[in-house]
Amino acid sequence: MAQVNQNYLKLKDGYLFQEISRRVRLFQEANPQCNIIHMGIGDVTLPLTPKVIESFQKGVNEMGDITTFKGYGPNFGYEFLRNAIKENDYTKRFAHVEVDEIFITDGAKCDTGNILEIFGMNNKIAISDPIYPVYIDSTVMSGRTGVCNENGYYENIVYMPCTEENSFLPIIPNEIIDIVFLCFPNNPTGVTANQAYLQKWVDYAIENNVVILYDSAYEAYISESNIPHSIYEIKNARKVAIEFRSFSKTAGFTGTRCAYTVVPKELLVTDETGKKFALHTFWTRRQATKFNGVSYPVQRAAAAVYTIEGQKEIKEMIAYYMDNAKILKATMEKLGFKVYGGINAPYIWVKTKNNQKSWDFFDFLLKKQNIVCIPGFGFGPAGEGFVRFSSFAKRENVLQAVERLNQTNFI
Ligand code: PLP
Repeated sequence: MAQVNQNYLKLKDGYLFQEISRRVRLFQEANPQCNIIHMGIGDVTLPLTPKVIESFQKGVNEMGDITTFKGYGPNFGYEFLRNAIKENDYTKRFAHVEVDEIFITDGAKCDTGNILEIFGMNNKIAISDPIYPVYIDSTVMSGRTGVCNENGYYENIVYMPCTEENSFLPIIPNEIIDIVFLCFPNNPTGVTANQAYLQKWVDYAIENNVVILYDSAYEAYISESNIPHSIYEIKNARKVAIEFRSFSKTAGFTGTRCAYTVVPKELLVTDETGKKFALHTFWTRRQATKFNGVSYPVQRAAAAVYTIEGQKEIKEMIAYYMDNAKILKATMEKLGFKVYGGINAPYIWVKTKNNQKSWDFFDFLLKKQNIVCIPGFGFGPAGEGFVRFSSFAKRENVLQAVERLNQTNFI
């Protein structure tokens, strides 16, 4: 008889967003008259911009014409998109990335999980706490952890607590690790890392043969000029870091699906005997075998993001969301909450009052004001006592939420 992958049995409480949906659904069924405002989940609400749509449609039309039709595309993405990425996201920021180091995919979510396939099973993985849950769950599914203890920690993951005391910046662990996930601008805390901080990680990674898995899905939200957008702006990062990027939040592609991962050829790891291998070769092999590329019209749409009009349009889109963040941040601060993030990231990280548990705050806000936020505990035990608000809602919903928040008697 076929058996399940036992590692899945170790996963706790279902995926965070599924649990939130379950609670919201139960509440809505019991209170069908309530108008729930979703200020939690990080999905965008504005449509694709005109330039992107124009290019998308052109791509679709080409697929319907015998002279321009395309079958399977290149596994790693069309050159027109990879060139645009290299030029705009790296060369313009003085970061060295080569075109064949850029792998176009259908999402940073899949890539940050799939990447673990090319690493040995005995690698020790360090992950921030709290964090985007995909890194933890993918590590568990891959069979690299033990069970989850009653405090919410899996055996064999090195957790790096991100707290007010360390400004939510993970501290380099004392114990030996092999791989570390870093995410800046951070989901869920909304904090960013400066050059000096990232240089410490890169220097440490070089000295200790550690690989950095750097998720910069929110880099387009960085507003302060001294904050790096890419890990490759940091000296020597090419030797130690893989970077994940996505058009999801940059250009509203959450339902369209396009992202990319950069694996520099200088990044070497060893086998058990100490022989060195380029991870680039392994990721190339992995993608060639298991992935058949992103659809041509979608890649055309993504390339339009880099045109002059495309850039102008997505900057307006990001400004709209960041204005939402400003409104929410100011509201919560006025209500006496301590608020982090929201300056270089679309998330605000709010500390509950009087040590209220984050799921209690979530339930209170859902039931009292029909507003959905995300309980910080869902992002990891160190997220207890915090909730995340997302700025991706429509403006009218943000303003309505603000009205309701202003009328709330918080404990
Ligand atoms: N990385 C982080 C940190 C995220 O928060 C998200 C989505 O919320 C993703 C990756 C997913 O990106 P994609 O839509 O490209 O799969």
